[in-house]
Amino acid sequence: MSTILCIANQKGGVGKTTTTVNLAAGLTQLGQRVLVVDLDPQGNATMGSGVDKTALRPTIYDLLLGQSAARDCILDAGETGYRIIGSNRDLAAAEIELVDLPRRNLRLADALAPVQDDFDQILIDCPPSLSLLSLNGFCCAHGVVVPMQCEYFALEGLTDLMNTVRQVKAKLNPKLKLVALLRVMFDPRVSLQAEVAEQVKAHFGDRVFDAVIPRNVRLAEAPSFGLPGVLFDKSSKGAKAYMAFAQEMLDKLPGFMAKSA
Ligand code: ADP
Ligand code: MG
Repeated sequence: MSTILCIANQKGGVGKTTTTVNLAAGLTQLGQRVLVVDLDPQGNATMGSGVDKTALRPTIYDLLLGQSAARDCILDAGETGYRIIGSNRDLAAAEIELVDLPRRNLRLADALAPVQDDFDQILIDCPPSLSLLSLNGFCCAHGVVVPMQCEYFALEGLTDLMNTVRQVKAKLNPKLKLVALLRVMFDPRVSLQAEVAEQVKAHFGDRVFDAVIPRNVRLAEAPSFGLPGVLFDKSSKGAKAYMAFAQEMLDKLPGFMAKSA
C-alpha cells in the first residue's frame, strides 16, 4: 500500500511544484517507487518532469472525468525515474464538470485505487486554491505536506489551510493528517525570514521538517531543462537540501502516519 501525500498551499508561487518534483526525484534516488499526480491545470509538475503537456492525452482530466483508467494515464517522467499522471489546460474545465458528477469529491481516490499498490509514495501537486480539485486530492490522501515561505503573511494563510484539512478529516476522509510544514525559499540574509523560521518551529514543533530549503537559482533553472533540481545539479545547495528532505521524509513518515491527527 502506498502513502498518498498532497503537497498543498492555497497560495501560488510558494514552492509546491518544486517541492513535489524534487521530493519525487529524491525518494526515487532512495529506492522508492514514486508516482507524481499533477493536479494543477498549469501543468508545471508535468513540464518540470520532462513531459510535454501540450498535446498530452490522456491526462488527469480524463482520469477525473472517468474517461480513462489510471493505468492508461501513467507515464514515465523523462529521465527522473519516477512516473507521472500529467496535466494541462484541459483540467481547468474539470472544476465545473465535476460538480454534476457522482462522488465528485472522491473521483481521484476512486481512480487511483487500482494502482495504489504499484507505488510506495504517491505525491499530488495541488493547485493554488482550496477548490474541488484540491478537495479531490485531500479526499484520497493520507497526509498533507505544506511548503511555506518564511514571510509574515505566510502564517495567515496557514490557518485557512489547516481548517480545511480539519474539516475534510471530520467529514470526508478520516485518515487525512497534516504531516508537516516545510520551510522553502529561505534566505538567511533576510532577518525577518530567520525570525519567522524560528517562530514557525517554536509554534508547530515536530510538525515542521528540520530540512530547510534555501533560495537557490539552480532549483529555479531546472524546470526549463525538464528536470527536478536534485537531478539537474546534484552539487547545488538546493539539490542537497531537497535530498536531505527526502531522507527525512522517509525516516519520519511511519511516525507521522502513526499519529492520530
Ligand atoms: P507553486 O507550485 O507553489 O506555484 P513553484 O514551485 O512553481 O510554486 O515555485 C514558484 C517559482 O519559484 C518557480 O519559478 C520556481 O522555480 C521558483 N522556486 C521554487 N523554489 C525555489 C527555491 N528554493 N529557490 C529558488 N527558486 C525557487
Ligand atoms: Mg505549482
